Amino acid sequence: MKFQQVYAVVDSEYRLLWVGGEWDEFALQNAAQQALANNVLSTSLLSHIAGDETRDLISGMIETVLRAKRPLRVSYRCDSPSLARAYLLTIQPMKDDRVLMVHDLKDAWHFSPPLNLWHYDAQARDHKCSFCGNVRLGENGEWISCDDIGERHPTHVVYEVCTGCRDALAEAVERVLAGEEVAPAVEESRIPGPDRQTSDQSE
Ligand SMILES: [Zn+2]
Repeated sequence: MKFQQVYAVVDSEYRLLWVGGEWDEFALQNAAQQALANNVLSTSLLSHIAGDETRDLISGMIETVLRAKRPLRVSYRCDSPSLARAYLLTIQPMKDDRVLMVHDLKDAWHFSPPLNLWHYDAQARDHKCSFCGNVRLGENGEWISCDDIGERHPTHVVYEVCTGCRDALAEAVERVLAGEEVAPAVEESRIPGPDRQTSDQSE
């Protein structure tokens, strides 16, 4: 399996100033032509995130990093119908009120059988967590992991954040505010950016 690293530099207004690493490969893998680097630069990061609650949580994490000037780290899933992918997201402070978001692919495994392909639909009755990918069938169902859902994965979903992820994200924010040190994903002197030679260009 190929391990990926994807970067984005975001300012305090959530504008995408720079993206790098294997960004385009990551976007295409997730079938998002409109998310290719050339199409997202200088747009708002938040405009590419589905679901009000997800947007609020991500903007809250960025604000926390800017305020505390310490890195924050959370794990999340970004699956395709055939492949489960576990990522680690590190948001770390940079100078000039910017943050670097680093997505590291940590693990991947196949779903067998593959899940049904899903689409966002504001009217859908089934829910999918934006962070762990778990699914809740109907309003009052239990959250089910995609590793267990098999052929029951819905084809239309509303994105929201499951209770487990909401707690985990709140805890990550609290730990940063309480002064816990998280090692940055990239050393400050090696932070890639528009002014520097990037790792993907030098390969
Ligand atoms: Zn979740």
